[in-house]
Amino acid sequence: MNDCIVRATAAKGQIRAFAAYTKNIVETARNAHNTSPVITAALGRLLTAGAMMGVTLKGEDDLLTLKINGSGPAKGLIVTADAKANVKGYAMVPDVLLPPNAVGKLDVSGALGIGILSVIKDMGLKDPYVGQVELKTGEIAEDLTYYFATSEQVPSAVGLGVLMNKDNTVRQAGGFIIQLMPYAEDALIDALEARLSKMPSVTTLLDEGKTPEDLIGCLLGEWEPEITESVPARFVCNCDKKRVEKALIAVGKKELDAMIRDGEDIEVKCQFCGKAYSFSIPELKEIQKLCTPISEIKT
Ligand code: ZN
Repeated sequence: MNDCIVRATAAKGQIRAFAAYTKNIVETARNAHNTSPVITAALGRLLTAGAMMGVTLKGEDDLLTLKINGSGPAKGLIVTADAKANVKGYAMVPDVLLPPNAVGKLDVSGALGIGILSVIKDMGLKDPYVGQVELKTGEIAEDLTYYFATSEQVPSAVGLGVLMNKDNTVRQAGGFIIQLMPYAEDALIDALEARLSKMPSVTTLLDEGKTPEDLIGCLLGEWEPEITESVPARFVCNCDKKRVEKALIAVGKKELDAMIRDGEDIEVKCQFCGKAYSFSIPELKEIQKLCTPISEIKT
């Protein structure tokens, strides 16, 4: 099955929903960053959410960033997504190892700790939209549910899951977001809550061979869901040597001086995808000319 995001409406427009299959995206991220199982799960959940939230962007160049900064050993995660379900992301500390949590699952909450979830939507305006909430559980789905309720005032249910194989590769990954429109009836809200409380986990359903369309059916079957769109989703990084060069300029004159004095080519890896770019000493010298001279840096 190829990765994809499906959009749906149900209950005569009172519900909008998204469902995702993202196994290949999460496995690509795991492979690029060599993440430990708990970080694969954490990053995979955030990538899945990013892919679904990205498709709500209106403009082709609009960009969504989901950022978690936490007190736990993972320190943080960053994911960006566009309107075409192209996503990329990385963890600040990719190799965190933790024992399973009290219910025997990967301890994503323990890896992230206490912290902040930021949702940044860059829609080409002067200032991007920034919504921030404190992490409620650090399990990501609940944190996004809280974000939607408080920052966007949209009652939502979010499910995200990553299941690993014994060799720590990704076996299943996917998720859903269900949102209630402002005019949704109370009876519908109650019935939906009851339905969701009886649902098996996303990864259980995917492991039974269910597609994102099937997930929508399982979640919303009694409210006549209608699939309105299916978008292929991919892990894509748009890095190139020019972008990495900009990062090197930002490193500053002094650090570049040290690299040049070492006299050896350096290799710089893209944070998002791990692709390595090599810079020779003559190239580093050219880059150094573009740095702000130390005397001009205002403090
Ligand atoms: Zn890259």
